[in-house]
Amino acid sequence: MRLFNDTDWLNRALWYVRKKRDAAAKSVPEWEELRKAASNIKAHTITHLDRYLEEFEKNALKNGIKVHWAIDAKEHNRIVESILQKFGAKKIVKSKSMLTEECELNPYLENRGYEVIDTDLGERIVQLAKQKPSHIVLPAIHLKKEQVAEIFKQNSSDPTYLTGVAREQLRKHFESADAAITGVNFAIANEGAFVVCTNEGNADLGTSLAKVHIAVMGIEKIVPTLQDLGVFLRLLARSATGQAITTYSSIFKKPSEGKEIHLIIVDNGRSKILSETKFTNALKCIRCGACMNTCPVFRRSGGHEYNYVIPGPIGSCLGAARDIKKHGKMAFASTLCGSCDNVCPVKIDLHEQLLALRGKYKEAVSERKDKFYKLAFVILKYPLLYKAATKILQFMPHSFYKKAWGSSRTVPKAAKKSFSEIYKERIEG
Ligand code: SF4
Repeated sequence: MRLFNDTDWLNRALWYVRKKRDAAAKSVPEWEELRKAASNIKAHTITHLDRYLEEFEKNALKNGIKVHWAIDAKEHNRIVESILQKFGAKKIVKSKSMLTEECELNPYLENRGYEVIDTDLGERIVQLAKQKPSHIVLPAIHLKKEQVAEIFKQNSSDPTYLTGVAREQLRKHFESADAAITGVNFAIANEGAFVVCTNEGNADLGTSLAKVHIAVMGIEKIVPTLQDLGVFLRLLARSATGQAITTYSSIFKKPSEGKEIHLIIVDNGRSKILSETKFTNALKCIRCGACMNTCPVFRRSGGHEYNYVIPGPIGSCLGAARDIKKHGKMAFASTLCGSCDNVCPVKIDLHEQLLALRGKYKEAVSERKDKFYKLAFVILKYPLLYKAATKILQFMPHSFYKKAWGSSRTVPKAAKKSFSEIYKERIEG
């Protein structure tokens, strides 16, 4: 299935979300103060993680939540499985969690005979289509309603009808699931509680019905107090979708009678990012997706072109900071226009980080890549050479571009004339 065949369609869809975010931000007079406060709280928390995580654990245990620690994805997956085994659980309803994507939990469990049902509508669509989410907030944004109808095997592509179909199917899964897995948006240290935000209520339905709730969080999700949480909740939904607040912002503090809550705190490379002062700001991210909606590269490429689980400007930073050789190339998928910095609710210096990561990548890449950059340097330095190179590219077969860029898009035909040729014709002669 072609993921999208109108190259401007994704751009327009994401820009629509960006405009909603702008209107929501403008409606809050103290928006910039909120951003500064959020950035400061995160800066303080990520530099005192040991203290806040231990405080959180102590209070969560007091509340009756069972706390586990996982150094990496493997340990995370093993812990999840051991909890499922303890409850004899075979069927799991899962609400959206980028951390479980990062740890590749679904294939891990499915290979061991578990049935995992993603319950967020967008996640369910991509799960049925056997694809990866293309956006952290809007996982199926790359698909049109006609394609969703095809995935659900329905004749009508009416969005309300399709939502009804999904609701009916999912309800049966909620009723028969043995366990519920959710991500965590924020964990509150002095309360020993954690917050899950969804617009569909799927996390709440799953966790209310199943006998065990397994929540998973990266170490950076901690905030010191409930007052701090208020700052982030005001910023998150407005930055993500332009809503005043996420429809369901549920605080989980203790298990209901006869049930258990297990919380897994995961490192999986975050300490490494923390150890490199230049890149620690990336750990402030609250996963609103605003940097993706505004990024001119992301709006045209879509999220599947990035080779890290989180796409867009923040994914490029996190991926490259974690493994420069594997993900460093993504730092170049940016115009460095700084639009991402301007919308980021926690004021991450994304484009500065991307620039620094480019330097780091250059140091880390192989000799072959170095030769390529040297060649590019020479071509870009001499206008005649550059013109000759663009002429050659213009006449390359369409399949060449398809291989390089077209794994999930329709590649447009190269223009017959270059910009400078058109300019010359129209302005100079
Ligand atoms: S980097 Fe900022 S804008 Fe991008 S997802 Fe994270 S919080 Fe949102």
